[in-house]
Amino acid sequence: MLPNVAFDAADLAAKDRAHLIHPWVDLGLVKDQEPLIVSAAEGAYVYNVHGQKMLDGIGGMWCVNAGYGRGEIADAMAEQARRMAYFSPFGMIGNPPAIEFATRLTQYTPGDLKHVFFTTGGSTAVDSALRFVHFFNNFHGRKEKKHIITRDYAYHGSTYLTASVSGKPADRGNMDLETGFIHHIPVPNPYRRPEGMSMEAFCDAKVKDLEDKILELGPDKVAAFIAEPLLASGGVIVPPPGYQRRTWEICRKYDVLYISDEVVTGFGRLGHIFASKEVFDIEPDIITSAKGLTSGYSPLGAMIASDRLFEPFNDGKTVFGHGYTFGGHPVSAAVALANLDIFEREGLNDHVKQMAPAFRTTLEQLYELPIVGDIRGEGFFYGIELVKDRDTKETFNDHESERLLRGFLTTALWEAGLYCRADDRGDPVVQLAPPLISGQKEFDEIYGILHRVLGEASRLL
Ligand code: PLP
Repeated sequence: MLPNVAFDAADLAAKDRAHLIHPWVDLGLVKDQEPLIVSAAEGAYVYNVHGQKMLDGIGGMWCVNAGYGRGEIADAMAEQARRMAYFSPFGMIGNPPAIEFATRLTQYTPGDLKHVFFTTGGSTAVDSALRFVHFFNNFHGRKEKKHIITRDYAYHGSTYLTASVSGKPADRGNMDLETGFIHHIPVPNPYRRPEGMSMEAFCDAKVKDLEDKILELGPDKVAAFIAEPLLASGGVIVPPPGYQRRTWEICRKYDVLYISDEVVTGFGRLGHIFASKEVFDIEPDIITSAKGLTSGYSPLGAMIASDRLFEPFNDGKTVFGHGYTFGGHPVSAAVALANLDIFEREGLNDHVKQMAPAFRTTLEQLYELPIVGDIRGEGFFYGIELVKDRDTKETFNDHESERLLRGFLTTALWEAGLYCRADDRGDPVVQLAPPLISGQKEFDEIYGILHRVLGEASRLL
């Protein structure tokens, strides 16, 4: 049952504009913009302060995987907060839920990835992985082996370092980034491959990009390659078949560590707790996780490293001088345990595997609209790329983009009852990642609203 709380919407909006700094808004436009203030949620739906109901097409921010309003997660939080809300994780100090969750988590990790370092979210998980890779090479006396290879359009977070290994052009304005040891290779986006090139040849070329970059820098200087198995906020990009496995093999060949950023692809999004091995047949050296790890009920992230990387520190003087006050927070760990219980008891991964073909088929009906260029994704994770001309794949100019995306699409979708991301600052890709409890009813609703609003968008062009 939703709590029946009344809000003064106008007062909240005024206070919001006066005092909140929002991530990723055009700061110059804040004064004229009406914030979307969401105050209640249940199942796959959220409600704004005016009481309007919206289907949450992107699980909050790719994270509310078990759906909203889970009483047992709320109970687990309350119980843990009453028993012991917090204690330091620094040094040889533990708390029962964090220990239990690390143990259960490693039952799902591939190969020998059995060491878990808890963080506060995805950015801090990736930041920890990158810092650990440098620490590891310093320990082994490989002081030159520090370069990190990443990809254009990647998104790995918002700390200085994780923003530097990200590659979305729209995020880079007015920002300083680390460039000394970070190198970007082209994004493996099959939709944008050269005209007439086969998928196999495109895959060869993208794998070669990585090998060429390693050879250009020198294998003894390259520490790691970081990759989301499928790129999420960079536009839901699904690399060509075999790309993940072949890039992982290249890393093995040149003794380059492979960091698989599963912040989005984990926890059921593709029908598995982790997709690296099960879907892409790779055993990374490090997996980073967050978001669905707690289904968004409380912040938590994890860097999970292989035993091979963690075992050699036996000289009695090697401190990994890195950690967060709230890393492995007991309340978040209790949430994560309750969340994993739901996954196991309700078979959410099997549900995703079963329903994924229906989600695809439902969305693919949108190809009837000329504005829809490409529908791509897997599991419960899809992107719809909008184009000006489907035959030529021509995209929108700045003016059209401004009018269609910023000026129309996102708000029109909200008003029609669908919350999802229609990237208003970069590539025009509608991103979809509904809670994993969704089924045909929700797919039909997503289709119906998108059909109506995208049809309207086509006419605006
Ligand atoms: N890695 C990936 C693949 C992400 O999509 C994100 C966030 O969207 C992050 C890392 C950063 O996670 P957080 O926002 O929890 O810091």
